[in-house]
Amino acid sequence: MDLSVVVVAKTRDVLSVLPGDPLGRAAEARRRALRSPSDREDFVAARLLAVRALQAAGAGDIAPAALHQSCAVCGGAHGRPLPVSGLHVSWSHSRGWVAAGASPAALGVDVEVFADAATGETGVGGLPLEALTPSERSLLATAPDPARAFRLAWAAKEACVKAGVAQLDGLGRVGVLAGPDRLVPSYGALLLSSRAFRGANAAAASAAPVSWHTLGGRGELAHLPGSGRPVGAPA
Ligand SMILES: [Zn+2]
Repeated sequence: MDLSVVVVAKTRDVLSVLPGDPLGRAAEARRRALRSPSDREDFVAARLLAVRALQAAGAGDIAPAALHQSCAVCGGAHGRPLPVSGLHVSWSHSRGWVAAGASPAALGVDVEVFADAATGETGVGGLPLEALTPSERSLLATAPDPARAFRLAWAAKEACVKAGVAQLDGLGRVGVLAGPDRLVPSYGALLLSSRAFRGANAAAASAAPVSWHTLGGRGELAHLPGSGRPVGAPA
């Protein structure tokens, strides 16, 4: 069976081990327009990791300039990535973390950094609960760590948006949480899965089963099994 390949890594690891081949012209113009150096690094790393995921999924020897985006609203060179070599591709970045996936089937990936790790924020205060279904709100009300449960839900909903089966303004109708730390197995025709890292959550929505990886020190992909403690957590 065809698998979706998803890779999650820290921006600094991507930039240190993957070749820094030039972006395409439209992406390079967008990169230059970003003010923050760390935003520019995340922007580049997500695309380099997308190339790595495409190669692992069988796209062959492609370069970052092969990545193109097309906005469904204005037609501009942003928004959903176009398929490359017949493979769907998706990427995401969040303050020092990047995720990317490639698949012969529909696919969306998202990574979310734990904002509250720094602030120590707990509880449901400040969370945009309108992005949750009524049953997800009930789950959060009794969750030991509501912010963590929200992040997991948010990443999965974003992945559904990126896969093209949900709208950003309709997330409150997209049910993805089965428990405070668990996703439902599927949303519509898409399989949902996630991995927890020390400092970030990643989620994928794909019509094909997902094979999760992180990036090794020589650019190789290291498989991430489906259970156990968060990657990078102390033993
Ligand atoms: Zn647009």
